[in-house]
Amino acid sequence: MLHLSIREIQKQLSTQNIHVTNVLKQTLRRIEHIKDLNAFVTVRNEDEILKDVEENDKNKNVPLRGVTVAVKDNFCLLNTKTSCGSKMLDNFIAPYTATVVDRSIRAGGLVVGKTNLDEFAMGSGTIDSYSGPCRNIWRSGISYKLLDKNESLPESWSVAGGSSGGTAVAVAAGAATVGLGSDTGGSVRIPAAWCGIPSLKPSYGLLSRHGLIPLVNSLDVPGLMARNVEDLQVYFEILQGKDEFDSTSVDYKCDDSVDFGKIKLGVPSEYFCEGMSHECINVVSETCNLFSDHGVSVTSVSLPNTDLAVPCYSVLNPCEVASNMARYDGVQFGLPGEDLSFTEAMAASSRSAGFNDVVRGRILAGNYFLLRRHYEEYYLQALKIRRMVQNDFVNVFKDVDFLLTPVTLSDAPSYDDFIKKDNRTQTAKQDHCTQPVNLAGLPAVTIPVDLSTNSLPLSVQLIGPYGSDKKLLKIAKWIEDKISFPTLVIS
Ligand code: GLN
Repeated sequence: MLHLSIREIQKQLSTQNIHVTNVLKQTLRRIEHIKDLNAFVTVRNEDEILKDVEENDKNKNVPLRGVTVAVKDNFCLLNTKTSCGSKMLDNFIAPYTATVVDRSIRAGGLVVGKTNLDEFAMGSGTIDSYSGPCRNIWRSGISYKLLDKNESLPESWSVAGGSSGGTAVAVAAGAATVGLGSDTGGSVRIPAAWCGIPSLKPSYGLLSRHGLIPLVNSLDVPGLMARNVEDLQVYFEILQGKDEFDSTSVDYKCDDSVDFGKIKLGVPSEYFCEGMSHECINVVSETCNLFSDHGVSVTSVSLPNTDLAVPCYSVLNPCEVASNMARYDGVQFGLPGEDLSFTEAMAASSRSAGFNDVVRGRILAGNYFLLRRHYEEYYLQALKIRRMVQNDFVNVFKDVDFLLTPVTLSDAPSYDDFIKKDNRTQTAKQDHCTQPVNLAGLPAVTIPVDLSTNSLPLSVQLIGPYGSDKKLLKIAKWIEDKISFPTLVIS
């Protein structure tokens, strides 16, 4: 029953073919079965999970009844450890629940656990976590089946993608029907692409950030993953809407009307960057052909400032990180410092023990950029470039309705290859097709369309104007129906 879609679950529950407790028991067994993949940081026990539902599920007709949900460990969940994949918060028990998690529970969702991530969501591989790296369930040569009980993990394995790799692996492996991640520069779309499942990075503000521990407030959005597009549509509908706890959230009525005969699709040439594999380029061409075969107009377009997005992000990100991480001083939050000789020494000892090199490096860089004498040269310049990247989209959407692009530069790299480059280099490389979207606050959907010669998933990305989230999902559903992407067998 773990392969069922939300709609099928509702149907089977109503005919009493399945029961909420059985779904849950089977899911917890599945989580145990895949534990070597290190997708979960915390697995909740059956009683805890059912207690949420009993408290909220007064009305049996809730839309996520019997639907399991995996939540990235940077969303707060009341009375549950919320570590952000960091030693700094390894002892942090959240005193409240994030809005999107709360809405999932109120809709009847069973939050089975908290998933692995790069520390404080900084990375593209889910290898830089205090809980250790997360492994992709798709592995070179072994194709799309789940591990047999007695089968041991191969020595060479593929990364899950990051930073929301734990959620992607959990959903792809049938350990949750839907999942929550956060996307600041690509952290939902990259792991979804490498784990062979569809994902949505919503327009900025459509989903509340309340209770999502911030990385870069002006770029962060909660993002969704599922095993099929229809589940993404249902889940998005449930979570969307203004939240009084997040002043940047908006009430926006997304129009979902799409007239396939009239769609104009643009393919931005700048997204095909140096180092991109032929296979990633080919899946975009194949998808273009699919569209043109069905009467959709496809043209090549230009977003001339695309190459400036990554450098711009790499200034804005550390600046906001430097400011956000100031709260971890071992007093307000975080690991208590051991050096109590004076206040700064206490915070310094807390941070040097609690954060990894990546987080400490970004704090240092951010404070450097924000020094009064550097402010204009870095932060202000980055803001201007951000505007140029945004304007590229404004201009291109005068000519076309949506954009079709690659998501990643290759299929999921092996762990051994991935760690040859450091976090900063990997982020700059892997996020080429994803970061511009966050700088402009736009929605994007990724969808797996083919397998590489290594038998690993290859995906494409659709980007639309602000608020076109539901239209993008409709187009993704259309692609999904036309292409039978071989999903993992989940018995
Ligand atoms: N790879 C990017 C970074 O490390 C994006 C991370 C994210 O989207 N959370 O900053």
